[in-house]
Amino acid sequence: MKRLILCGCGHGHIHILKNSRKFLKNIEIIVITDNKYQYYSGMYTGFLDGIYRHDEICFDVEKICHENNTKFILDKVVSIDSKNNVVISKNHKLEYDYLSVNLGASQNTISFDKSVINSKPINNIIDLKDRISIEDNSIVILGAGASGLELAFALKNIYPDKTISIITKGHIQMEGFNKSSNKKVKSLLHSKGIKLYENQKINDVNDIQIPYDKLIMCIGSKGVDVDFGNLPVTDKNFLLSDEFLRVSENIFAVGDCVSFRKYPNLPKAGVYAIRQSSILFKNIVRTLKSEDLIEYVPDSNPLQILYCSNEKALLNYKNLSLYSHFSFLIKKYIDRKYMTK
Ligand SMILES: Cc1cc2nc3c(=O)[nH]c(=O)nc-3n(C[C@H](O)[C@H](O)[C@H](O)COP(=O)(O)OP(=O)(O)OC[C@H]3O[C@@H](n4cnc5c(N)ncnc54)[C@H](O)[C@@H]3O)c2cc1C
Repeated sequence: MKRLILCGCGHGHIHILKNSRKFLKNIEIIVITDNKYQYYSGMYTGFLDGIYRHDEICFDVEKICHENNTKFILDKVVSIDSKNNVVISKNHKLEYDYLSVNLGASQNTISFDKSVINSKPINNIIDLKDRISIEDNSIVILGAGASGLELAFALKNIYPDKTISIITKGHIQMEGFNKSSNKKVKSLLHSKGIKLYENQKINDVNDIQIPYDKLIMCIGSKGVDVDFGNLPVTDKNFLLSDEFLRVSENIFAVGDCVSFRKYPNLPKAGVYAIRQSSILFKNIVRTLKSEDLIEYVPDSNPLQILYCSNEKALLNYKNLSLYSHFSFLIKKYIDRKYMTK
């Protein structure tokens, strides 16, 4: 029997696991991941806010594997030897016929000081509230993208008496959000008492002019700490993939760990990783049947909803920008549907 190994268990692999029993019958599937849970970042700040419970924002990967007769290995992937078709993790060495990589990304950082918290991967900040103490009066978030902004809103809501600040290198410019949404976010920060410092080029902690007790990094990502051997990678260690989600003939890759040759500027966001998941699944099934593969074409205008705490959200779609409780309800519906389907 042929063997498919799933490295990491991001959104793409959750989709494969949930459909494997029906559509992937004559192949052995093994999952190697370093966390029993797969978190859904779209609900993370709602979890911080107390709207969602832990079990509502994550998939229990071990349980899903068990329910679908799939072998689950809790281990950290260290390297991939594509010449010999072997995945090496800390405690295992496994041969594969087909491989799929969905390992996410790691955080770009400017310091390894103990006051610094990396926001990626999301597993790293699931206990964020335990890591912020009563004595921490000033929390600074570096980076004003969607994740930095959501975190600022959540933290101000949880700790109204602490000083929450955001520092960014240019102006607020959330990727894929229109002008009016960016303007609205800026006025929301102001009305909630979150301090915003724009046009600050920070290369080092010494460049930060305001005092802080905790510094949260939200300044973009780099590839995971895995040696991909002979496989093609970018200078940031993102795997280079084609529009069929393939890195080589028998290796697929999706989500934040990938840079597409055809779409090098595609943002690293869960909305794209989730869209790729059904194409990945179909292409693995088609590969096994020696059928033609389906091309992945990213959505150029995805619906984006930024949770701004207090059960309100900012919905952005093309030229539409709507900050309201209704936007939150739409987000809640979409997120819950994704988690329970
Ligand atoms: C605070 C925050 C809020 C966000 N909010 C949103 C949002 O609202 N909307 C949105 O679209 N995006 C959001 N994002 C971005 C989103 O989290 C990522 O783009 C998305 O999770 C990427 O999905 P993925 O499937 O590629 O990988 P991930 O979801 O990161 O999954 C990777 C998996 O691989 C495992 N893994 C990693 N390394 C190894 C290893 N060496 N060995 C074994 N296993 C490993 C991990 O444990 C994990 O299970 C947010 C990010 C942050 C930090």
